[in-house]
Amino acid sequence: MKLVLMGLPGAGKGTQAERIVEKYGIPHISTGDMFRAAIKEGTELGLKAKSYMDQGALVPDEVTIGIVRERLGKDDCSKGFLLDGFPRTVPQAEALEVLLTDLDRQIDYVIYVEVDQSKLMERLTGRRICKDCGATYHMVFNPPSVEGKCDKCGGELYQRADDNAETVENRLEVNMKQTQPLLDFYSEKGYLRSINGDQDIEVVFAEIDKLLGGLIG
Ligand SMILES: [Zn+2]
Repeated sequence: MKLVLMGLPGAGKGTQAERIVEKYGIPHISTGDMFRAAIKEGTELGLKAKSYMDQGALVPDEVTIGIVRERLGKDDCSKGFLLDGFPRTVPQAEALEVLLTDLDRQIDYVIYVEVDQSKLMERLTGRRICKDCGATYHMVFNPPSVEGKCDKCGGELYQRADDNAETVENRLEVNMKQTQPLLDFYSEKGYLRSINGDQDIEVVFAEIDKLLGGLIG
């Protein structure tokens, strides 16, 4: 079961990733974890990546792809894997195709957890945090009993600067611009499966589960 999971911020991709790896026993390979592991192991590529990250620079594709190659070649990936956060660009996706061909493998599905931008705006701008105890709320999905006040300590709730409408809209637009060409790429390859992410978490997972069940059935 060789999967790539995609979704815009707020689409619930992380939750679905957890469910998939728990049920199917495949490793969850996120870019961040992969970099951290390579750096910790002190591999040549890990150290190279670290030198870029320490300077606050983007890690070049050749290094990232090398790290992905090392990771996918490990024993725990023999049953499959769930890639999350990689590839981010079409050149990375093309490199992944080459890499998998070398390993005599192929992606089964690219699962895209799809949620309308307007819904994502609602999800991402609704978050409120307690000034005193840090408890988090959501105006729509998890509102406090008294507006603007923390249920736990009565503290005042505020919105993080990152969660304001303008910042969130900008973040979504940047992400969509990056995501669309990848969706087109995978659609052409025939790997893409879009799942409606604007449903209960359980329902979204049930749809993914049904799709994946077909791979082992
Ligand atoms: Zn509080």
